[in-house]
Amino acid sequence: MLGCLVGQAVGDALGLGAEFLSKEKAASYYPNGLQDYSQIIQDGYRLNWEQGEYTDDTEMAVCIMQSVIECGKPDVKNIAFKFWEWFKNQPRDYGRTTRKVLTNHNYLKDPFKVSEDYFNLSNSAANGALMRNAPVAFLPLSYAKDICRLTHWNPLCVDSCIIHSLMIKSLIKREYLPIEDFIDETENEEVKVYLRRGYHSLESLELDDRATSGYTLKALGTAVWAYYHAEDFKSGLESIILEGGDADTNGAIAGAVLGARFGYEAIPENLKKNLFDEGYISLCEEYLKCVKQNNLLSI
Ligand SMILES: [Mg+2]
Repeated sequence: MLGCLVGQAVGDALGLGAEFLSKEKAASYYPNGLQDYSQIIQDGYRLNWEQGEYTDDTEMAVCIMQSVIECGKPDVKNIAFKFWEWFKNQPRDYGRTTRKVLTNHNYLKDPFKVSEDYFNLSNSAANGALMRNAPVAFLPLSYAKDICRLTHWNPLCVDSCIIHSLMIKSLIKREYLPIEDFIDETENEEVKVYLRRGYHSLESLELDDRATSGYTLKALGTAVWAYYHAEDFKSGLESIILEGGDADTNGAIAGAVLGARFGYEAIPENLKKNLFDEGYISLCEEYLKCVKQNNLLSI
């Protein structure tokens, strides 16, 4: 379980190295691959982060963990408050849907209504809820839906979070499910298409296509690929990141699956040791302790 939460953070922090790059550009920046935070090119965008620092994806996952620890249970209103507070402190990056919803003046009063209204207006299907889903996967499945909907109301986003949670739950139990089991979890044909694409190959997801790089189902597809085809944590994560596109988010989402699949020990030492947030791993341990002590663990 710790592997899943730490996999999310290291996938995010390493993925920053190829965020917004085309696959071609990523290959030219990292001809020998990308295995360490120190290799990350220091262009105008990436200079905003310290070496080994994770981004908004894991910052929002931290909001969820802190809220559950403080409340002793998942309290969606309190999680909404943590998201709101996080945004108020001016994060360096965030998605459009997250910004639009969290800056609505009615957000704290009725986060679900604001989120639903924004979906009706925009039809947004961004990956911003899936990217913070790792800690949610340990809770009863209904929270995958509720916590997703705090910012992302689209059923495609909800299905993404539910299926990602089911993948992680099965890996923790050491039950490797066939792809049909995940396909059967959704009624939506579009979700089924992307589950099959991820199962087929990483390339078929076209992760660096600019117009669609933040699409929740593409990110879910990387998790599917990681579930079935990655040979180990390190090479699996590297393959996904070097596809470019929304690489930090894909790294976070697939990193959580890789960590659940291969375990904490399989995450390269340099990636764990050099996380900029030195307190992150102990926060994850505290979160898992809290979830178990309060009988919230639902695998
Ligand atoms: Mg990010």
